[in-house]
Amino acid sequence: MDVLFFAEEPDPRPWMAALAQALPEARVHDWAAGGAPACDYAVCWKPPAAFFAGQRRLKAILNIGAGADAVLADTNLPLDVPVVRLDDAGMGAQMEEYVAWCAFHFLRRMDDYARAQRDALWDRLPPRARGAFPIGIMGLGVLGARVAAFMRDLGFPVRGWSASPKAIAGVECFAGPQALAAFLAPVRLLVCLLPLTDATRGILNRETLGMLPRGAALVNIARGGHLVEADLIALLDDAHLAGAVLDVFPVEPLPAASALWRHPRVVVTPHVSAMTLVEESMQQIAAKIRALEQGRPVVGVIDRARGY
Ligand code: NAP
Repeated sequence: MDVLFFAEEPDPRPWMAALAQALPEARVHDWAAGGAPACDYAVCWKPPAAFFAGQRRLKAILNIGAGADAVLADTNLPLDVPVVRLDDAGMGAQMEEYVAWCAFHFLRRMDDYARAQRDALWDRLPPRARGAFPIGIMGLGVLGARVAAFMRDLGFPVRGWSASPKAIAGVECFAGPQALAAFLAPVRLLVCLLPLTDATRGILNRETLGMLPRGAALVNIARGGHLVEADLIALLDDAHLAGAVLDVFPVEPLPAASALWRHPRVVVTPHVSAMTLVEESMQQIAAKIRALEQGRPVVGVIDRARGY
């Protein structure tokens, strides 16, 4: 079995070595080194335009990530080959930690205290109760459902929004565009964990973020394309929103000239809310390839029509 590999990594060798170890029956070819034969499987993250050229034998494309928006946008992507995403693979626990930090940061007003410290202000603010600080999770998929349950277990009221109706114990679930306003109305911390599709691009905009109560905060850990940056900055500047924690951007690395780096109410992190783990992801991909070879079903096949 031949596997074609490309990952947008400074050094892809540890990834290829982990894949070769998890799938010893395969020959793993580094696309970047050139000269790879027609392969049975492609394992890739953000492959360059020429990656799929001449690959007419592919049985499946394994995406080294949960979000498949980048590979689906590739105009050379073969139409009839299934694309399979990573399911959690160690990302869920990282997302839980990231969102929990954001929730306590805003609940305990660490953003206000950081600004007060800059002015040497000893300014004690009234306490706030966790039970009166609803967290709203947009997207109740592999990662969103996990984060929702984690925040619920920490004692926050949690509500979630998805395309189709869901039932998660202790989480108030909303579905579809008609339920978006009701979902957003009481949310103090809005977390975006949606896939980037035609239906969700620009969904964090003046209108939707304006539906949040005054003083709410935003966490975007999905994709930069979900957020209309100018709308966020306007809502922060007129204090409708208290703050934002942004991990993802339309252009990454976030350009040094971006106003977001210096905005006093924005925390920027460099797309680290859930990093793809070498061993976990390559072992999962190896197991999926093996299942496909044996004609067994795999989870995480992307529905190309809906885009996730
Ligand atoms: P997933 O399992 O595909 O779940 C997506 C969720 O979004 C589902 O609940 C889906 O609803 C909902 N959804 C999709 N379109 C919608 C729409 N138009 N309106 C309302 N809800 C909609 O995805 P996941 O594994 O949880 O990952 C979510 C995203 O996180 C990825 O796509 C990726 O962009 C991002 N991500 C970021 C990082 C990072 O480091 N920053 C790491 C990993 C992933 P249904 O359940 O009804 O289909």
